[in-house]
Amino acid sequence: MNYDKENIFAKILRGEIPCEKVYEDEYVLSFRDINPQAKMHVLIIPKDQYIDIADFLQNADSQYQSCFWQSVNKIIDHLNLRSKGFQMKAHKGKDGGQEVFHFHLHLLSNN
Ligand code: AMP
Repeated sequence: MNYDKENIFAKILRGEIPCEKVYEDEYVLSFRDINPQAKMHVLIIPKDQYIDIADFLQNADSQYQSCFWQSVNKIIDHLNLRSKGFQMKAHKGKDGGQEVFHFHLHLLSNN
């Protein structure tokens, strides 16, 4: 499977579709899920093009992976979640529940 540049998150990254942004830096964009499954439900996506988490872990270089996770760590503080409970998950593949084929983390909290 090749990365589809017309997927909805690619369009959000290019500014062609709006999003409710919560955080952005050089490496990631984070925005509210349009169909929240918890009191707080945000998505975190890398700015570079990876289809899913397995593609990211296999093909992103270690420096980019490190920067990505550092940004995730910043988002935990940005959303004041460090001392609270939350869920973080990634769907991989259609049979893993993935609908949008640009790697994203779901970050959910009811706190
Ligand atoms: P997944 O099933 O892991 O691929 O999750 C895709 C997520 O993207 C779902 O939770 C959708 O509600 C969410 N989503 C789809 N389109 C948008 C959008 N335009 N803005 C924000 N979230 C979206």
